[in-house]
Amino acid sequence: MGHLEFFVLGSGSSGNCSLLQVGGNWVMIDCGFSMKQTKERMRTHEIQLDMVGDVVITHLDRDHFNPAWCRTFLQREVRVHLHESHIARAKRAGLDDACIVPFTQDFDVCGATVEPVHVAHDALGTFSFIFDTGSTRFGFATDLGQVPQNLLDRFVNLDGVAFESNYDPIMQEMSNRPESLKSRIMDGGGHLSNEQSLAAICQIASESDLQHIVLLHLSRQCNSPEIIRDLYLNNLAYLYNSVTITCQDRCSRLLKIINKVESLT
Ligand SMILES: [Zn+2]
Repeated sequence: MGHLEFFVLGSGSSGNCSLLQVGGNWVMIDCGFSMKQTKERMRTHEIQLDMVGDVVITHLDRDHFNPAWCRTFLQREVRVHLHESHIARAKRAGLDDACIVPFTQDFDVCGATVEPVHVAHDALGTFSFIFDTGSTRFGFATDLGQVPQNLLDRFVNLDGVAFESNYDPIMQEMSNRPESLKSRIMDGGGHLSNEQSLAAICQIASESDLQHIVLLHLSRQCNSPEIIRDLYLNNLAYLYNSVTITCQDRCSRLLKIINKVESLT
């Protein structure tokens, strides 16, 4: 097992869902859209729901976990991997015990090792993940609030990364959002600015050989792809062609992350 395939069905404060192909199986990361939306967007890359047997959950905010999925997961015997500390909230949202596969440390999904990293976000925190097939490593991190050193210590030797780039600080300050919301987003327990995200990506890129950088969870009101494009062209131009900027309303392209060792032989 070597290469991975990845795409984002959509990302932002109205819904988040991504799909990662591991060893011929599709793993869903978060399930924040309605079933109808999810199925429609999956069809863009000719994926059907019955091709997904595992879901990995970062955290349970409504834009990442839509409770409407609980019945479907039970009916289809889908394994829902979530951190032990999130179980009580998941059950209150309607997720049946039979679906829950709790993790507290590294766990296995479809033959890949998944390394969770706990990061601050709202009350219970969220989890970032590294999916490691043994020869290909892919990092996924969203809703961070801040980038802790323990995340950067783990996000090394990656072949691809998906990372939150939520807001432009000037647009945030100038917006008509209530001050309480602005400070919740920016106080270290909310979301990452484009600059914080870029600094983390620069650090990760220096310890990795990134084929793809996928930017997640852009704020519709306080961000724009053009700002991010200019930021990368000015600061990380040699990797700009590897950048995919996702959006809320449509699927990203399908990205292949190849196993470089195998592809050389
Ligand atoms: Zn979110």
